[in-house]
Amino acid sequence: MRKELKKKIKKPFVPARNNFLHLSKVDKKYLWHPFTQMQDFLKEDPLIIAEGKGNYVIDIKGNKYLDGVSSLWVTVHGHQHPDINAAIVAQVKKISHSTLLGISNVPAIKLAQQLVKIAPPGLNKVFYSECGAAAVEIGLKIAFQYWQQRKNPRPQKTKFLYLQNSYHGDTLGAVGVGGIDLLHKIYRPLLTEHICAPAPYCCRCFLGKKRTSCKMECGDKLEKVIRSRHKEIAAFIIEPLVQGAAGMIIAPCGYLKKVKELCNKYEILLIADEVAVGFGRTGRMFACEHENISPDIMTVGKGITGGYLPLAATLTTDEVYRAFLGEFWEFKTFYHGHTYTGNPVSCAAALANLSVFKKEKTLKKLQDKIVLLTELLQKFEKLEHVGEIRQKGFMVGIELVLDQSTKESYPVEEKIGTRVIKEARKNGLVIRPLGDVIVLMPPLSISKSELKRVTQITFDAVKKVTEG
Ligand code: PMP
Repeated sequence: MRKELKKKIKKPFVPARNNFLHLSKVDKKYLWHPFTQMQDFLKEDPLIIAEGKGNYVIDIKGNKYLDGVSSLWVTVHGHQHPDINAAIVAQVKKISHSTLLGISNVPAIKLAQQLVKIAPPGLNKVFYSECGAAAVEIGLKIAFQYWQQRKNPRPQKTKFLYLQNSYHGDTLGAVGVGGIDLLHKIYRPLLTEHICAPAPYCCRCFLGKKRTSCKMECGDKLEKVIRSRHKEIAAFIIEPLVQGAAGMIIAPCGYLKKVKELCNKYEILLIADEVAVGFGRTGRMFACEHENISPDIMTVGKGITGGYLPLAATLTTDEVYRAFLGEFWEFKTFYHGHTYTGNPVSCAAALANLSVFKKEKTLKKLQDKIVLLTELLQKFEKLEHVGEIRQKGFMVGIELVLDQSTKESYPVEEKIGTRVIKEARKNGLVIRPLGDVIVLMPPLSISKSELKRVTQITFDAVKKVTEG
């Protein structure tokens, strides 16, 4: 944490205990928390965050915790970064909101230019929204409409190809291309059926291959699906390199490149959903850079504002954009737009976040920390119930299993992931599991000593809960 911020951390408002009891009661009376079994939540003392400073969050009682998951994968340069704070305040003093429907605003214009500059080549147009799911919806709708109204239309291209275990958000369109039964199955009757292809999951390979000897046969399987259905497929949507919500499942090297080649070969648009992996999480600004590919459509969100404000964007190529141009009466317009699209305060925060990337050489400094993280994770291999340790840059998934040799999972009733993160919390670390996978995704600004603490607390918690 920055020195000057460290000095400034003060205990929040007293009497904290009464304040806590009051807020906890009100929370339980009125709030419905996302992805939370409220029956359990109601029985517990909730963690109520009151402040954030640098790489820490501080609760209403004054306890300080390392933010081990970047406040759900969003914080990039820490909480209360002076530059981002200042940019938001400065923008609020000008204007807080003005629509992008038919008119424009200054930060939205400047940010679009910056995004195009840093995006993979060819992505030249920016369409804003407020959350990752909306950015995905927009990407899907654009892809569909593109084939309907481009110069040589292909109206039969109405389906999307997606991968097993994929996650692209919680709105119905995004759920329609989601491959996680636990989250998506119940909604299937509400959805249009798309095409699901088997996905690489190397520690449980569906082809029974071993990582050391595999020749990425999963790519051949994928081609088989595409070959038989490509005439109906408008776009292939993929989380490049890392299937985040599925438990940080990392695709084999070259898989994304293969996907891009197949999309080119079979005339399918590629939608790269960089909502989770974008803005440095994998060690590069965007995950697509690792395999040198440019998608036709790219969605970004989460870290775009450094974790300050809701903002997302869908970027497209000129080719895609051009299909929407025409006379007013031709109705080729993209009839989509949210009330807060291109909100100036969010865009100002994102601009400041991108400036900090440059000013603090975030990505350059990150490289050593990624190497350190790899080293620090090695000791988890010794633990009896660690089935696999997955890492891509600053995205980590530690999968806990009942039996290491068979990879048998824990019974759900054991709530093993939840128990581990609660133990870590007692020692000053906030993390959140994905089922039995312990996720670590610290802010890119974390120091090496803080990183050591994150992994040590996690190690101790896993050991205590699984072996203790
Ligand atoms: N796409 C991916 C790959 C994601 O990981 C997420 C969220 N975790 C989303 C889309 C949805 O983003 P949001 O929660 O902002 O709607």
